[in-house]
Amino acid sequence: MSARQNSSPLTHQVTLTVLTLAAFALAIVVGFGFYAAAQSDETSLERQKIFIADGLKDQIAAVQREQESVTVWDDSVTNVRAGNQAWIEENLSTWMYTYYGHNRVYILDAANHAIHAMREGKVVDASTFGEDAPGLQPTIEKLRHMLAEPPKADATGQSPKMVAQDLVSLQGKPAILSVMPLVPSSDRVTQAPGTEYLHVSAEFINDTVIGKIAAKYLVKGARLVPLSQPVGGAAVPLVDSRGVILGYIGWDEERPGITLVRKMAPALAVALLVAGGVLLFLLRRLRRASAELQTSQDEAQYLAFHDTLTGLPNRALFEDRLRRTLLFAAQDETRVALLYLDLDRFKHVNDTLGHPAGDELVRQTAARLRHTIREIDTVARLGGDEFAIILLDVRDIRSAEDIADRLQQKLCEPFKLIDDQVFVSASIGIALSWGSETDADDLLRKADIALYEAKKNGRGRYQVFAGDMDDLLLRKRKVEAELRKALDGGGGIKLAYQPVFAADGRRILGAEALIRWGHEVHGALPAAQFIAIAEERGLIGELGKWALTEACAFAARTHLPWIAVNISPLQLRDTGFAEQVASILAETGLDPARLQLETTEGVLLEHDETIGTVIEALRETGVRMVLDDFGTGYSSLSYLRRQAIDKLKIDRSFVRLLDEDDSACAIVRALIELALALKVEVTAEGVETDGQKALLVGMGCHQFQGYLMSPPLEPGQLLALPGLSTGTPARSVANA
Ligand code: C2E
Ligand code: MG
Ligand code: MG
Repeated sequence: MSARQNSSPLTHQVTLTVLTLAAFALAIVVGFGFYAAAQSDETSLERQKIFIADGLKDQIAAVQREQESVTVWDDSVTNVRAGNQAWIEENLSTWMYTYYGHNRVYILDAANHAIHAMREGKVVDASTFGEDAPGLQPTIEKLRHMLAEPPKADATGQSPKMVAQDLVSLQGKPAILSVMPLVPSSDRVTQAPGTEYLHVSAEFINDTVIGKIAAKYLVKGARLVPLSQPVGGAAVPLVDSRGVILGYIGWDEERPGITLVRKMAPALAVALLVAGGVLLFLLRRLRRASAELQTSQDEAQYLAFHDTLTGLPNRALFEDRLRRTLLFAAQDETRVALLYLDLDRFKHVNDTLGHPAGDELVRQTAARLRHTIREIDTVARLGGDEFAIILLDVRDIRSAEDIADRLQQKLCEPFKLIDDQVFVSASIGIALSWGSETDADDLLRKADIALYEAKKNGRGRYQVFAGDMDDLLLRKRKVEAELRKALDGGGGIKLAYQPVFAADGRRILGAEALIRWGHEVHGALPAAQFIAIAEERGLIGELGKWALTEACAFAARTHLPWIAVNISPLQLRDTGFAEQVASILAETGLDPARLQLETTEGVLLEHDETIGTVIEALRETGVRMVLDDFGTGYSSLSYLRRQAIDKLKIDRSFVRLLDEDDSACAIVRALIELALALKVEVTAEGVETDGQKALLVGMGCHQFQGYLMSPPLEPGQLLALPGLSTGTPARSVANA
């Protein structure tokens, strides 16, 4: 068996589906995981940005608060007005540096001239103000403007604080700038509007300041990122009031999502590995299961189209191939030969050597056939011992015949079966396709007919289909159909009875029943012809039973000493035949001793044990066995000697020659002497002349049948015969 073992489309499909689903599921899980992580990271970043921005605002507010602690103070107003530089340094400038970390402080008079300057805790020349002035000027102007036109009080009645703040860039460094007027804290000191001194304080937004902000919100790695440096996502811009970016506060972005993912990665990897392992395991099982399914599917498919015994294509596959082959052949304008092959002695081998030997014979035959034909040709087993061969691209009938010849030679070689060596032969029917209109069914039928002809003409030969075979077969089929109808109660079949006479030519010894079929279309068909068709088409059992019943019933009603009924060899091969006869006798009430069964010599030739036992059984019940047409076949003398036969009927072909042929006389005399020697009765058939009868009487023959005395008669005619009407006792079995 050649069912495919490698993986099948089904397996691929299943694997692909499962893998796709698994990949899809994995993608969803991983994708969602990363999405959630990214989402959480983004939220966290937004929060950090808000923290830093708030921190910066707080820092700006702190600078204002710190400045306010010294600007709203009577002492500040009086000391600055007095130009007390020592006091100013101690309380308004270096103090701001040491205590609050303000980097630069300038004290400006009403005309905005610097009267004091401090940088990084050191008093410097007031003119240094000029360096920073461009950056500071807008904010100073803003405050002066506020002082000139104080803003209105808000809803709560609180007058707004006099302060102007901004982010500025001082010498390229971002800073928080805060400008406030020096104003008295009590009524003891007065200050005329427009005469205020200003306190200008700047705190650089450096890493220290940023560190303070970041520490409050637990943000790591916070630092100043100057404009010259690239900035990442984790950054807040330092923007002045005009919208100009001065730099950035950057930090190490905290990414809780990704951190979580990283932390879980090993565990996830292990889980994935386990899931992958489980999936792989399931997949392998699935693949195996689907492979098994596919294999069994393939096997079923194979079994549906192949013969289990030989592995050859069966009839279904063969017919399909034939149809295709014919189609292609018509296209290519080539010819196809169909060979039907049948072993001649298969049944015999089966019956004598047993079924295992029969099977072995079929197997070996298949192998020989396969090895004899070409690869491209097809040999199929149609059943039993029947094979069919499709030969492609056959030039002419000669080439087909050559192959048939070769096949027959191959099959003639001895077969070694289990313990025995046997010789068989094969009959072959050949049909050749012709042109494009060849139909598969037609070709099959023709090969079948040719095979039938080959068998009929003697075994071990091949026969090419000839046109007239077709008509013959069609006619036979028609007869068969009509015969079936007749047997099914359609009528038309009758029995004629031909009396058998004693030597005196008057005394009736018995009668032979002869079948008659008067058909409306076919007319009166000769019995031998339609009997042969009935045998061929499997109708003989039924027909024989009908004749036997009819004849026995008739005889039982008459004074006939005995009735002879013709039996086909096929009937004798049926193991149940003896029983059938017994039951018919019982049914019709005919004494078994009054029944004679005529059969031909051929039967004896078939060394068939069944036939032997059936004949024995019949004779044991008292039925007589008659050998019909004696002399035309080859009788086994040993069979005759074993007294398995009660009577011989000398064939009418010899009787006919008696008048003219001396050698015929010698043969008939020898046959009669043989019968006498074997102590069996002898009847001469077909006696037509007085001369024939006289010669036969002279040779010692006892019984006569023929047109000279009487042709086969209708039942009524027979009973009207004088011999019978005189009332011959039914039981006086004549042994004249
Ligand atoms: P058979 O058994 O040898 O029957 C004798 C045949 O010779 C009959 O032909 C009969 O009509 C014919 N016949 C009789 N006397 C003469 C004669 O003087 N001259 C000539 N020329 N012929 C004569 P039929 O009836 O046509 O039968 C032919 C064969 O058909 C029979 O040969 C027998 O073998 C077979 N047959 C007839 N009836 C049955 C039947 O019921 N069952 C079976 N199995 N075979 C039957
Ligand atoms: Mg007969
Ligand atoms: Mg005969």
